[in-house]
Amino acid sequence: MAGRVVLITGGSRGIGAAAARRFAAGGDKVVVNYCRSREQAEALAAELGGMAVQADVSDPAQVGKMVDNVLEKFCQLDILICNAGIAQQKLFGDLTDEDWRRMFAVNVDGMFYTIRAALPHFIHRKAGKILTLSSMWGQVGGSCEVAYSASKSAVIGLTKALAKELGPSGITVNCVSPGVIDTEMNANLTAEDLAALAEETPLGRTGRPEEVAEALWYLASPGANFITGQILAPNGGLII
Ligand code: NAP
Repeated sequence: MAGRVVLITGGSRGIGAAAARRFAAGGDKVVVNYCRSREQAEALAAELGGMAVQADVSDPAQVGKMVDNVLEKFCQLDILICNAGIAQQKLFGDLTDEDWRRMFAVNVDGMFYTIRAALPHFIHRKAGKILTLSSMWGQVGGSCEVAYSASKSAVIGLTKALAKELGPSGITVNCVSPGVIDTEMNANLTAEDLAALAEETPLGRTGRPEEVAEALWYLASPGANFITGQILAPNGGLII
């Protein structure tokens, strides 16, 4: 199975970067998409012998170019990891139109554009694995994170519906739905907030990006060939 081509959106930092390292360690060729973190993405791609490609996933033209670029370079795409995402903590009443639209533009529209761009290639080959990133807040809802929670619930709906639609074409679609993971996305949480979340978690701690990468790795492996439309939740038991 080594030598697959894997495109990871938002691969420059956090969970996406850990996934890039995991797949490269397993012998795959990784394409690290980034939006703003060019230096980090290029350094990571160089370290892993992969390729860095800039695209704001909320822009369908940029996404189309990115996928064309990957197919031109590798003539193949085996795994698509739709990981790029943003979060925001705000009271519902303080959310602006712009807050709401940006959340959906990146977390939901971005996924739509990326999958749509890669799909003709997957369908042509009657093969492919699509992995989406939701969040435990998309499963149970998070206070002061209504826009984020709604966008991540949409990801779950997209995953399940698309799995049904693409199964007959030999393509699997699965979702990884992490709990609290130590990345810059949670940089705004205080040490006390993080300690409280760790205490609430049955396994007694927050998670590491590498642990989410392992879930992605498994769902992309041949061992998961009969799994589609499912949600795998590396969350330490915080929601069950
Ligand atoms: P992070 O450390 O904040 O990294 C976010 C990544 O997304 C970066 O690589 C960033 O790229 C990229 N990104 C953001 N906007 C983008 C855009 N418009 N176009 C392309 N890339 C964009 O976040 P993370 O914790 O690794 O989260 C990764 C995914 O896991 C997200 O979907 C997040 O919702 C989900 N998740 C995270 C947690 C958690 O606790 N950390 C929990 C559940 C789910 P640039 O830096 O290049 O702009």
